[in-house]
Amino acid sequence: MITAYHRPKSLNEALALLTQPNTVPLGGGTLLSQPTTAPVSVVDLQALGMDALRVHGSDLQIGATCTLQSLLESNHCPAPLKTALKLEAPINIRNSATIAGTLVASDGRSPFVTMLMAMDAKVEHRSLTKDASKPPVVLGLGEFLLTLPTGLVTSVTLPLNVKSAFEYVSKTPSDKPIVCAALTQWNSGRTRLTLGGYGKRPLLAMDGTEPDGLETAARNAYHEASDEWASAEYRTDVSATLARRCLEGLK
Ligand SMILES: Cc1cc2nc3c(=O)[nH]c(=O)nc-3n(C[C@H](O)[C@H](O)[C@H](O)COP(=O)(O)OP(=O)(O)OC[C@H]3O[C@@H](n4cnc5c(N)ncnc54)[C@H](O)[C@@H]3O)c2cc1C
Repeated sequence: MITAYHRPKSLNEALALLTQPNTVPLGGGTLLSQPTTAPVSVVDLQALGMDALRVHGSDLQIGATCTLQSLLESNHCPAPLKTALKLEAPINIRNSATIAGTLVASDGRSPFVTMLMAMDAKVEHRSLTKDASKPPVVLGLGEFLLTLPTGLVTSVTLPLNVKSAFEYVSKTPSDKPIVCAALTQWNSGRTRLTLGGYGKRPLLAMDGTEPDGLETAARNAYHEASDEWASAEYRTDVSATLARRCLEGLK
């Protein structure tokens, strides 16, 4: 239950408000506005101007409050990421949900986060301090999800000079995948495979200098991935097939 609402006009003000007890950032509010019994104060980020998409050289910087739909509609959004975004949530949610809120609330079933992890996205993060001159910290998305540091995500950056692919299997076309694979390949040959559809966060199955051993890596990664949606045996087989399809479909 939201018991106090703040709409700061500057990052300094937002960070200062967030140092207060029981106070959290409000992105699109699709999750935070759900009924709960616990009282919470929210700091609405919408007046901070953090919703822009900017190309810096060969990188795309996505502001924390950019909505999923704005990213999906951007000409700079890579096609495999668009596919993952469409599966993440229906359009009404995509129109409100922000990039940062989605990262923070995500679990291993998130196709969007699985794709971002394969692209080795970087998360810019500010710790909670009244001294806003303190520089932000930049974390790899994998590390960010593992530690979920308290504070404020300000942007996410991903490379545009890479080839990527995304493949998935779901019970119905609009369901979140029960297995998905995302692959990114750099000009150097570096090849990064992530798997989603299971567990607390997507899994990094391979980060190598070339694609050799991709299917084996996919198979090994999900050997214990059993839940109410699918057995580990099924996920193991499907992961290997999806990894191969990703490699064939890189663009
Ligand atoms: C009815 C319904 C139920 C849902 N239930 C769930 C669920 O149980 N689990 C789930 O994972 N998803 C759930 N979702 C999906 C949820 O809508 C998405 O995770 C959504 O993408 C969250 O984005 P948001 O911007 O609306 O986040 P918000 O609801 O605004 O915030 C979500 C979380 O992210 C934090 N946050 C927001 N912005 C920042 C920032 N810049 N820096 C740091 N932290 C930030 C918030 O403090 C909060 O903890 C549900 C959606 C709906 C409509």
